[in-house]
Amino acid sequence: MSLELNGISVRYGAVAAVSEVGLTVGDGEVVALLGPSGCGKSTLLRAVAGLEVPSAGVVSWDGVDLAGTPVHRRGFGLVFQDGQLFPHRDVAGNVAFGLRMQRVEREARRKRVDELLELVGLGGYQRRKVTELSGGEQQRVALARALAPRPRLLLLDEPLSALDRALRESLAVDLARVLREAGATALVVTHDHDEAFTLADRVAVMSAGRIRQVGPPAQVWRSP
Ligand code: ADP
Ligand code: ADP
Repeated sequence: MSLELNGISVRYGAVAAVSEVGLTVGDGEVVALLGPSGCGKSTLLRAVAGLEVPSAGVVSWDGVDLAGTPVHRRGFGLVFQDGQLFPHRDVAGNVAFGLRMQRVEREARRKRVDELLELVGLGGYQRRKVTELSGGEQQRVALARALAPRPRLLLLDEPLSALDRALRESLAVDLARVLREAGATALVVTHDHDEAFTLADRVAVMSAGRIRQVGPPAQVWRSP
């Protein structure tokens, strides 16, 4: 149950956005990709998701090359910076989306939706309109929606960046707890040191398209 990246490079014309990246994310592990804006974090995450085709290298799951596998067949859950919820569906409708796709029957869907809303601290929000929720609440819904179909890997791209500083700090602690309780295997992109160190079992520090060091938070050098 692991994600393996071998020699991943992604080019946009003359720009080498990601260069020769190797990384493994093991079962139940949370790994953060940390680095400044423009260093290639999102591009790498998108290559893992199948939203970007690497110009070289292999993305594999348990030794199976995912090159021919489209986004929706990878069994991965995605959470983006701005949640990207379905505005015309209520909270339960958003969280249940992936379960409907899996044809999970109604009672089981309802039970799973209730469970997940409790997990993310939104018990009782089932019938609320997502457009009337705060940014932090919307990100919790996006997280519950991504977790609902029990993805084998969760990909989070700056999940807290759209929120203000104080909220980010408290939500990072919540997010760390939710990932642990869900037993999630996750790759999280962030430019925020504190967030990476709060969330991750291991931090991969990136600059200019490359991973420069990887290790547990305590071992990774804390640059200013
Ligand atoms: P980060 O997520 O670390 O901020 P990105 O992965 O978004 O970095 O970007 C890495 C590099 O690739 C940057 O130089 C960026 O300008 C470039 N880039 C990203 N997406 C595109 C694109 N669709 N077309 C051309 N260049 C891109
Ligand atoms: P439907 O109720 O027709 O299945 P909805 O989009 O209204 O579709 O609901 C989305 C999901 O939320 C459904 O899968 C359902 O199981 C669940 N759900 C519906 N109503 C409630 C409710 N009052 N409390 C909790 N979950 C609900």
